[in-house]
Amino acid sequence: MRDAAADGQGITLRCNLCRRKVHFLASDLVDIVGPDWPMHEPVLPCHKHGREYVDMRARLPKQEDLGKLPVRRPAKLIQTWKTVMLGDE
Ligand SMILES: [Zn+2]
Repeated sequence: MRDAAADGQGITLRCNLCRRKVHFLASDLVDIVGPDWPMHEPVLPCHKHGREYVDMRARLPKQEDLGKLPVRRPAKLIQTWKTVMLGDE
C-alpha cells in the first residue's frame, strides 16, 4: 500500500458476485490499513458477500476520471457535545 500511495494510485474494490464497485485513493487507505497492507488483500469486505469474492486493484487515475469518478474519502468527524455533571467523565 505504501508504494501505491506514493504513486498516487486509485484502489478499486469489486465484488464479483454483486458487481458492486467502490473506489478509494491509496493515500487515504494507507493511513487506515497501514503501509504494509498487501495489495491482493481487500481492505473491505462486500457487505453482502464478505471478503471472499472481493477483488482489489490499483491503477493510476486517468485524466478522463477527473470530476467523474466517485471516490470514497474519509469525511471530517463532527464534534458532538454532551452534558455531564461536573466531576463525571
Ligand atoms: Zn457482493
